[in-house]
Parts: sequence; structure tokens; C-alpha cells
Amino acid sequence: MGVVRRKPDWGRPPWKIDFRPSSRGLPTEVDYAIVGAGFTGLAAAAWLRHVAPGKSVAVFEARRIGAGSSGYTGGIALGETAAGDLPGLGDVLAGLPEILRALRVDCEFETGGVYELTHRPNRKDAGARSSPIQWADGGELRVAEEVPGGSVNPGKLVSGLGRAAERLGAMVFEHAGVEKMEYGEPVELMVRGSVVRAEQALVATNAMSLELSGLAERAEPKFTLAVATRPLTAGQLEALGLGRRRPFYTVDLPYLWGRVLARNIVIFGSGLVHLGNWRELEEISIRKGVARELVGRLKERVRRLHPALRDVEFSYTWGGPMLIGEGWRPVLVRHPRTRNVLVLGAYSGHGVALSVYLGRWAAEVMARGRKLPRWNERREPIVWKV
Ligand SMILES: Cc1cc2nc3c(=O)[nH]c(=O)nc-3n(C[C@H](O)[C@H](O)[C@H](O)COP(=O)(O)OP(=O)(O)OC[C@H]3O[C@@H](n4cnc5c(N)ncnc54)[C@H](O)[C@@H]3O)c2cc1C
Repeated sequence: MGVVRRKPDWGRPPWKIDFRPSSRGLPTEVDYAIVGAGFTGLAAAAWLRHVAPGKSVAVFEARRIGAGSSGYTGGIALGETAAGDLPGLGDVLAGLPEILRALRVDCEFETGGVYELTHRPNRKDAGARSSPIQWADGGELRVAEEVPGGSVNPGKLVSGLGRAAERLGAMVFEHAGVEKMEYGEPVELMVRGSVVRAEQALVATNAMSLELSGLAERAEPKFTLAVATRPLTAGQLEALGLGRRRPFYTVDLPYLWGRVLARNIVIFGSGLVHLGNWRELEEISIRKGVARELVGRLKERVRRLHPALRDVEFSYTWGGPMLIGEGWRPVLVRHPRTRNVLVLGAYSGHGVALSVYLGRWAAEVMARGRKLPRWNERREPIVWKV
């Protein structure tokens, strides 16, 4: 099948992943196999060992932990899915800190609220007039609302989840891409040329390996971009309306999101590279072609937002994959070839908090027979490309 193996040229984000799993030999049999070591796979693995400490868990990652979106994200923690609230979803922002506490993950999680920005402020609305953010983005860009949410340090979140998974007894393997799966009982995974048998498996490969997850027909892989400024002064942050350090995103187009990091670095993100096939992700270079052009446009757009940004320099430029689900809904379903494989992902750019929250849910389906969410139930049969 072929998995992403070499390190793509997606640029460098402003955080570090400082956990590397200990090396060991591959098992031949496990109770639970997880494919993909991003937020989703690592949260599920750690939670499986938390609720079922007697069962063996192995995580197989094609490259290194956080090599997908989780290492290249923006780190804004949102309470809703990209499709809004969904029936039965529950309180994601209450669930996330509960999970982090139970797994002893410190990732600088903050929940002060997030600004929703609009390009079409209602002039009569006192809120728009007193908006802390007064930017020029084609027209006026103002705060429409402050909604629940916050941010994490993504490097610490993915490292912390990896550390928790290993501390709780999960085996985590890097450079161990799953080349192929046989959907029998047990499930068979082809890893480094050997077969690993698993009672159950979770495919958490996000925008990649869509043949394994079977999501090619119901989700679209994209590549999206971000830049981070050099440190700004406290005065510049105040002038920008970011003195309260609230993350922000637009609720209309053109899309823009961002947040303030320690040292007063401000991240801005926008832009999509459209792909014919997920494998094109491996070829994308932030320094070439469409990605480079979009980064250039994003920097120019940021410089025009406000006089305080006119001469701003950028210290980081990066991009990463995202998977847009049908109706922008995340997917947590059983693979149609077998009840023993779950598929979780397609957060449509809203995956930071959801991946951990739904990773716990997936683990509880596998270990405790918890019911799957109902928002993925479909009337039409799905034609799966496997
Ligand atoms: C630039 C950017 C900014 C973003 N900003 C935000 C934000 O601010 N807030 C928010 O909520 N969301 C944001 N997102 C989305 C969020 O980062 C993702 O939804 C989330 O990280 C998905 O985590 P994951 O573990 O499901 O997937 P990933 O982190 O992509 O993990 C999948 C893993 O599977 C591995 N893999 C693939 N194929 C195989 C295989 N065959 N065998 C073994 N391993 C395999 C990959 O190498 C990868 O490590 C952003 C995304 C990007 C790219």
C-alpha cells in the first residue's frame, strides 16, 4: 500500500516534541493495535491501558510521533466540531482536562475563551464598535463573539500523551508503518515485513493511509498553512487587541485563525492546498509551488491587518495535513470489513481537543463496549474504497 516514510518538507513549527519511545522488538500478538501516533492514537492507547491495564496495546507509527497534523497544528482547543455541536457529543472542553489529569499530561492547557471574528460586523452592535480587535482584512475584521475554548502547547500535548501511553504500559513503535491490514479475526497488520495479530485495532491515520481507514470516499485530505511572528512587544499586542491573549478564528471567509504564544509570538494561519490524492502530502514543500505562494500571501495579509504588524518579521513557517469529513463531521465508526477495527478522525481542522476526547471514547468502545456516537449513522450504504 505504501505509507509516508521520509520526512516531508512541511517547515518548522514553534514547539518541540521531546518524547521518543524506548526501542524494543515488535510483538507478534497484541490485544489492541493502534495505527498512527498523533493526538488520537496516543490518547486512545494511553486510555486503553488506563481502563484495561491487563490488556496489551501497541501503537504503530509510520514516521515519528507527532509526524502528522498533531506536530504541525495550531493548538487552539475548541469545544465544538467543525459542524458545530453534535447530538450526544457531550462537553469536550470539560472532558479534555479530565483526561489530561487522569493521564498526568501537562500541556499548558488554557481555557480563557476564544474570539470569533467576522468580516461583516453589525455597525449598530455596540459589541462590534467596542471590539478589542480592529483589523483591516479586505473590509473590517472585528470580534463577533467570545466563545468557550482555549489553547495547548501541541509539542507538550503529543509528547505528554506518548509518555503517558508508555508509562501506562503501551508499546509505541516509530518507523513502523502499517503497510497492509487483513480484516479478519484476529486483525492482521503488516509492519516492517512481519505480521502482528490484534484482537481489535484503531486506525488513527487522519489524512494519510486512506486505504487503511477506508475514508477515501467520505473525507478529503488538504494541506493548510501557518506562520509565526518574531516576538512582539506588549504594546504591539495591546494595539492589536491581543492583550488578553485570546486565540481567534474567523466565522466567515477569507478564513484566518491565530493565537499568542509565550514570548509574545503570534501565530496566524490560513490557506488550503487542494490534493488529488493523500500521497501528494509527501511531496508538498513549504518552500515550493502552491504552498510557498500561499505562505507569501498569508504574510502579506498579516502585515496589512494593522499598523502594528506593518513591518513584522516571521520566525516560523509551516503547514500540515487536515482531513475534511462529510458535512464537516468527525468520524468514529466501525470499519465495514470487520467489527474489530474502529476508524477515528476527519476533524476538519477542529481536532486538537476532539482527538483526545474522542480517542478516549474509541478506547472505551474497544475495552468496555461503550456505544459509538450516533452522528455518523447514515441512511445510504457507504461504498468503501479499501
Ligand atoms: C496547520 C494546522 C493548524 C491546525 N490548527 C488547529 C487548531 O488550532 N485547533 C484544532 O482543533 N485543530 C487544528 N488543526 C487540526 C488538528 O491538528 C488535527 O485534527 C489533529 O492533530 C489530528 O490528530 P490525529 O492524531 O488524528 O492525526 P495526525 O496527527 O495526523 O496523526 C496521524 C498519524 O498517523 C501516521 N500514519 C499515517 N499512515 C500510517 C500508517 N500506514 N501506519 C502507521 N502510521 C501512519 C502519521 O505519520 C501520523 O503521525 C490544525 C491542523 C493543521 C495542519
